[in-house]
Amino acid sequence: MAIERIYLDWNATAPLRAAARDAMLDALAMPGNPSSVHAEGRAARAVIEKARRAVATLVGAEAAHVTFTASATEAANQVLSPVYRMGKSRVGLGRLYVSAIEHPAVRAGGRFPKERVTELAVTPAGLIDLDALASTLAGHDASEGLPLVAVMLVNNETGIIQPIREVSTIVKKFGGLLVVDAVQAAGRIPLSIADLGADFLILSAHKLGGPKGVGALVSQGETFMPEPLVRGGGQEKGHRAGTENLAAIAGFGAAAERMSADLVSRNAGIAALRDRAEAGIVSAAPETVIYGRSETRVGNTSFFHLPGLKAETGQIAFDLEGIALSAGAACSSGKVGASHVLTAMGEDAATGALRLSIGPDTTESDIDRFLDAFVKIAARRKPAGQAA
Ligand code: PLP
Repeated sequence: MAIERIYLDWNATAPLRAAARDAMLDALAMPGNPSSVHAEGRAARAVIEKARRAVATLVGAEAAHVTFTASATEAANQVLSPVYRMGKSRVGLGRLYVSAIEHPAVRAGGRFPKERVTELAVTPAGLIDLDALASTLAGHDASEGLPLVAVMLVNNETGIIQPIREVSTIVKKFGGLLVVDAVQAAGRIPLSIADLGADFLILSAHKLGGPKGVGALVSQGETFMPEPLVRGGGQEKGHRAGTENLAAIAGFGAAAERMSADLVSRNAGIAALRDRAEAGIVSAAPETVIYGRSETRVGNTSFFHLPGLKAETGQIAFDLEGIALSAGAACSSGKVGASHVLTAMGEDAATGALRLSIGPDTTESDIDRFLDAFVKIAARRKPAGQAA
């Protein structure tokens, strides 16, 4: 008999919400091009504008400031541009500063050449080092152009929430622009682009129950915008050409609307389940290291290292027990590499860590099944120092 699967990998991608699926199916049945002026076109346009309002509401932004893209990665490549536009004039940005724990979508540096990208240190606790940020920006050569800084709000591996308000104060002091990857934060914590002090937010639909392959770049204003990445027609007010992916955008909007509702209470319930998992882990194997446990984290994520168990081996063992979780971040090749996040925190990343990430569908019995498997796997591991 096949064992029932339990999905505990919501940070890799979240299951599609029913409301998103319904909205997508409705949109797929619509014949019009959103740029057409006839009734069919206007109906398609209305779907996009409704989704735009829902995404804007999720992050406390204005609908007019949401640009849909094909992924958060595309939004990152758009916004991490050495050339910006202010009305008709072009403005050069001198250097990109990215935190050492950014997702590869941001860490790759977008359209900046490698020699114009500087990495920002994090503390052993996994938080951006604010003193190092201030001293790095103090050394910025203004003759190169303005500094562009990218710091994520919630780390995808540890779930740690970064002090973006403080980051923004420092970045503004040095006249820089701040890009915040809010992919793992949206739908998990209340968000307001203005309160964060961010100039831009990057979002992805599939982390909050929308479809894969659609994201957004959200700006706080419109005076200063990055040079478009995808050029062509005038869609998305010229910021992103190409006929819009109507169904995907509709699904994104529906998921955003769903996730905006009951955000605080829903996430309190999710955090209680995550805490139950961590209490069980520590009681079964007190030597387990849980990263960021004493920091402010989102409630759905637990990133832990069980001495004597290589993360890759652990991931396979859980999979065989019917449980999907990750060894660090899921990368495109499916290979498990050393975690750059742990390395940046000064941890020994060689054996890696396992990430459990849950969501609104996770139940107490899922967590208990996970803990039963954890106890079995912990008992089977090799003595410390001989990681299997
Ligand atoms: N940023 C973070 C923090 C992520 O976790 C991810 C997805 O793994 C991305 C960016 C990239 O998102 P997308 O898959 O939409 O390109």
